[in-house]
Amino acid sequence: MFILSEDSKRTQGRDAQSSNIMAGKAVSEAVRTTLGPRGMDKMLVDSSGNVVITNDGATILNEMDIEHPAAQMIVEVAESQEDEVGDGTTTASVLSGTLLAEAEDLIEQDVHATTIVEGYHEAARIALEAIDEQVLSVEVDDELLVQVAESSMTGKGTGGLTPEVLAETVVEAVRHVDSDEGVARDNIEVHTQVGASSSATELVSGIIIDEEPAHDEMPTVVEDASIGILDVELGVRTGEVDAEYSIDSMDQLTAALDHEEAELRQYAQDVIDSGVDVLFTTDSVDDRVASLLASEGILTFDDISNKKARKVANATGARRVGALEDLTEEEFGHADRVRSEAYGDDELAFVEGGAAAEAVTVFVRGGTDHVADELERAIGDALDVASTALESGEVVPGAGATEIAIADHVRSAAAGIEGRKQLAVTAFADAMDIIPRTLAGNTGQDPIDSLVDLRAAHEAEGRAGLITDGETVTIDDPVEYGVVDPADVKREAVESATEAATMIVRIDDVIAAE
Ligand code: ADP
Ligand code: MG
Repeated sequence: MFILSEDSKRTQGRDAQSSNIMAGKAVSEAVRTTLGPRGMDKMLVDSSGNVVITNDGATILNEMDIEHPAAQMIVEVAESQEDEVGDGTTTASVLSGTLLAEAEDLIEQDVHATTIVEGYHEAARIALEAIDEQVLSVEVDDELLVQVAESSMTGKGTGGLTPEVLAETVVEAVRHVDSDEGVARDNIEVHTQVGASSSATELVSGIIIDEEPAHDEMPTVVEDASIGILDVELGVRTGEVDAEYSIDSMDQLTAALDHEEAELRQYAQDVIDSGVDVLFTTDSVDDRVASLLASEGILTFDDISNKKARKVANATGARRVGALEDLTEEEFGHADRVRSEAYGDDELAFVEGGAAAEAVTVFVRGGTDHVADELERAIGDALDVASTALESGEVVPGAGATEIAIADHVRSAAAGIEGRKQLAVTAFADAMDIIPRTLAGNTGQDPIDSLVDLRAAHEAEGRAGLITDGETVTIDDPVEYGVVDPADVKREAVESATEAATMIVRIDDVIAAE
C-alpha cells in the first residue's frame, strides 16, 4: 500500500519516520524471497499487460511502479549497485531494509536518529575492514573467474543449462577484452535471439546487428572482407526527374528514364570500382543498384541506424564517408568474415574478426522471450562480476560466509564503542545476519537454527557458508565449493545500503528538529 501509491498528506515527526521506514522495509521485503540460488522468481505485469519474469533484484524494483519517495531510495540503492558492480542488488536492498528495521527498534528505545546514523557509518567502516580480511589470497585465474561467474548465475533462469557452461562462455568473453589497460567491458555485447534452447548460447568474436541484406541475391557469407560505411542515398532523389525535364512526349520520358537508369548504374559502378566487399549505408539503396551490387557479389546492408553504423565502424576500423567519391580503400575497415543468417523471421548480420576492436558478443539463445530475457540478465550480471573480479583481483567467499564474518567483526568491535552508539553498531551487525538468514529461509531451512550453526562453524573453522547445490544444503567453506563473489560487490552493498538507510533515518531527523 505504502509503496505503490502516494496518496499521502504531509506528515512529520515519528509518523513520517515510521512511514518512511515502513516503505523502505516493504521494498526490501518484496525482493527478499529471490535472494540466492534457491530464490524464487517474480512475475511482473505492467499496466499494458506486458509480462516480465525475473529473479533479478534491480529488474524487479525497476518494473515495480514505486512512488513512495523513501521506497524510491531503496530502488536507487539497487540501481547504483547495478551500475557500479552489476550484481548484489538483492543483497543491497535487503540489507538496507533490515538496517531500517533495526533503526526502527532503536528509535522506539529512544536512541536518537543522529546517533543511529553515526553508529551505522562507524559500523560500515568496520564492515569494510572485515571484507578486506575475507579477500582470498589467491590469484584470480580462469578457474576462479568461472566460479565467480557461476555463483552469480546460480538460481537464475538459465533454462536448465548448467551455469558452468555459460560461465565458461562469460569468462572467455571477459578474457577476450582484457588488456594491460584493464577489462574493456563495453566491448562485450549481449545479443538475444529467441528460437533455440539456451544450450545454443555461444560466443561470437565480433558484433551482431539485426539487419538483412539489401537484395535477395547477395552473398550470405563474405570472407576476408573490406568494409565500407556510406552515409548517402544510392537512389534517384524524388522530384529530380520532373525538375530537369518537362515531359511531354514519349521520347522525352524514355530519355528521362534512361538518364535515371544511367545515374543508378553509375552509383553501382562507383561502389564496384571502390573495391569494397561489404557495404553498410545509413541511407537507402535503390533496388536496381542493389541488384547490380548483388550480381558483383557485394554484400550490402542499407538503412542501418547511426548506432549500428558506429558499431560497425568501431569493430572494423572503417571510417564513415558522406559522399560516394570518398568511398576509397583508405576509408575501408576489415573483417575476417561477414555473414547473414536467418533465425525464423529475423535476419542477423554477423561481423566477425573486426580489425579495429576486440569486440565480442555473447549470442544468447532461449526457447521463449521470457527465458531469453532472463538469461540475458543473468549473463549480463555474470559478465559484470567476472570483469569486476578480474580488474580488482579480489574475491571473497559467498553463501553468507562473508556476511557472517562481517557481523562477527562488527559485533566484537561494538564492545569498545562508548554510549548509545554502541547499540547502533550492534544493530548493524544484527542486520548483516539477514543475508545468511534469508539464504537459509529460501533454501527451506530454519533461519535461526542455520544462523546458530553457521556462527558455530565460523568460530570453529573460520570460513562458513550455507552452500546449496539446489537439493542439499551444507554448512562448510564456500571456497571449496566454488561459491565466491567479487569483494567489490560486497563493499558496494555495505556502502550503498548504509547510505540509503541513514539517509532515510536522517530525513525525519531534519523534519523532527524543525
Ligand atoms: P544478488 O542480487 O544480491 O546478487 P542473488 O540472488 O544473485 O542476489 O544471490 C546472491 C547470493 O547467493 C550471494 O550471497 C552468493 O554468495 C549466494 N550464492 C551463490 N551461489 C550459491 C550457492 N551455490 N550456495 C549458497 N549461496 C550461493
Ligand atoms: Mg546476483
